[in-house]
Amino acid sequence: MRRWLALAATGLLGLVAGCAPTALRQPATAVRPLGAGFRYSLYGPKQDPGPAYWARVGREMAARFPGAVPETIWIVGRLDGEGCRLSFPVAGGGPLIRGEPEDRNEAALDLFDAQGFRVWLQVEPAMASVEELIDLVLERYRHHPSVVGVGVDVEWYRSTAQPEGQAVTDAEARAWLAAIRAHRPSYRLFLKHWEPGKLPAGVRDGVLFIDDSQILPSLPAMVAEFAAWGRAFAPAPVGFQLGYLSDRPWWSRLDDPPRRLGEAILAAVPNAAGLYWVDFTVNEVFPPAGAAAPPPLLGVKVYEHEGDPEQLVARWRQLGINTAFVGAELARRDDLRAALARAGMPLYVIFPVLYAPAELDADPGLYAITAGGRPARDDWVQHACPSDEGLRRKRVEEARELVRSLRPAGLSLDFIRHHVYWEMVRPDADPTALPDTCYCPRCLRRFAAATPGAAGLPLDDPSAAAAWIRARAPTEWARFKRETITSLAWEIIQAARAERPSIRIAVHVVPWRGDDFAGAIDRIVAQDRDALGGIADFLAPMTYSFMLYRPPEWIASVVEDVAATCRCPVLPSVQVAVRYRNSDTLSPEEFEACLRAALRPPSAGVVLWKWEYLAAEPAKAEVVRRVFAGAAEARREGAPRPPDPGRSTTERKTP
Ligand SMILES: [Zn+2]
Repeated sequence: MRRWLALAATGLLGLVAGCAPTALRQPATAVRPLGAGFRYSLYGPKQDPGPAYWARVGREMAARFPGAVPETIWIVGRLDGEGCRLSFPVAGGGPLIRGEPEDRNEAALDLFDAQGFRVWLQVEPAMASVEELIDLVLERYRHHPSVVGVGVDVEWYRSTAQPEGQAVTDAEARAWLAAIRAHRPSYRLFLKHWEPGKLPAGVRDGVLFIDDSQILPSLPAMVAEFAAWGRAFAPAPVGFQLGYLSDRPWWSRLDDPPRRLGEAILAAVPNAAGLYWVDFTVNEVFPPAGAAAPPPLLGVKVYEHEGDPEQLVARWRQLGINTAFVGAELARRDDLRAALARAGMPLYVIFPVLYAPAELDADPGLYAITAGGRPARDDWVQHACPSDEGLRRKRVEEARELVRSLRPAGLSLDFIRHHVYWEMVRPDADPTALPDTCYCPRCLRRFAAATPGAAGLPLDDPSAAAAWIRARAPTEWARFKRETITSLAWEIIQAARAERPSIRIAVHVVPWRGDDFAGAIDRIVAQDRDALGGIADFLAPMTYSFMLYRPPEWIASVVEDVAATCRCPVLPSVQVAVRYRNSDTLSPEEFEACLRAALRPPSAGVVLWKWEYLAAEPAKAEVVRRVFAGAAEARREGAPRPPDPGRSTTERKTP
């Protein structure tokens, strides 16, 4: 459900699930075979290779489910101002109904006729008359035997600014169905929304009820919600739109997402009659034949810049940089965002979570506490307690506000972990000497409450608590630490996606492999890379090999290790200039070796840390230009594909 958390919180979800008598269920397949295919719009797909491609997608989707026939939701009328624009010439429409000079649908419909498709023609009516739209659409296309009816996207019914829609009454639904059946008595109507309450309570016959819910946390959550939808409209058939970008972090990890989602839904929803993969991700899941592999993400981090942003972005373009990772403060500059937008370069905003100098100055009680009872602070590195509810809520709201006001393509979450000054941890470091946090009373109370047998834990003495935990519950403690971090990441990501479903999320991770320092990635910094990989779009290890006294090849080994653990795309960053080892030299040759190691499969690309350094070193800028040109070329020749770095082209107000 698009507002899943809000509805779950108010109990509506349970209400919907509980109100339909199960005795009414009857398999929709008894009436007609399952339809499986896709949703199509002019504005949805990244590439529209033409009718043959769509016919192939429909066939391949249907082939995944025994007995299914190819079926499509083919959108012929899209929201246009206060009204609807039909994708064919319209004679004498009013101010609320416009057409286009050329027909955009005939060729595809001919092909669908020939291949036994079932086609729903959908409109987004806004303030236009639905009956008038139905007549225009069916007068034009009813000669196609593949057409089975007309669909109305209720999110855009008498709604133009927000995809909320006015609830459809029984009388309206009957009138629309009658208008459709005046053209052919066997035609049907579909109504689409993600809230059952927006659809008619009494009319069932002749109507298919489609749920286009998204921003779901997992496959089980999707199935549970879709099952409730099925019960709400039983015995009428129901259908589902699948594959939204906002849900991509979890479905993209499945081996065959359309099949896995479809099978899970069919097992849980007896009246499921239609499964439609959405066009926003269709190119990724059903790659067009001969399509060029999407380019690697070649990014740069930048925190400060004084000069002309147009020149800056032009320089990045010259070097082959295709994505900007910008510090939150700099990203507020309108001229920089405008320059990026003009260049078509995605903006990721770097968002530090538990690095909180301002908050810690104002309230030292927010510091995370080490096992020795000291505040979590080493040099410039300082960490807030990850359990503090006030700070957690503040960060969630900041992320929401940032996404709402800056509309970035991505958010790059930094400092979402427990405290450690990892930049100082050399390969031969003693694992037992790494700092362990947070032993503040807040965290200890939460841990005690969540852990059976923790009744004897001292709650107000960090050193005693640490000794108690080390002796009795080290595994539970490490798990608790990871869950504390993962849940915070989830809350922030959820808020960001609610504002902008297509937003891409990178999570910066400490560049330690699973076995390094006796499992310190899990027990010290507590970044659960498997769980984080399930909710983010990229994990981004900060593979700054030089400062860590590691050789360039080490970077590739970290990328491989993270990829094996997180099962999501991995985006390493590399350091451009010397930090910390100030008497040593990071040569252009070593820098080049680092870049090449970082780009080795399964890497999704590389991010340079940072522009301020690169701008001062022309020899390294030339290395970047040369390596990036080669990387883009190599991908074109069929090396393993990284995901698309950060598109925002599919986003309208809502899918
Ligand atoms: Zn704490």
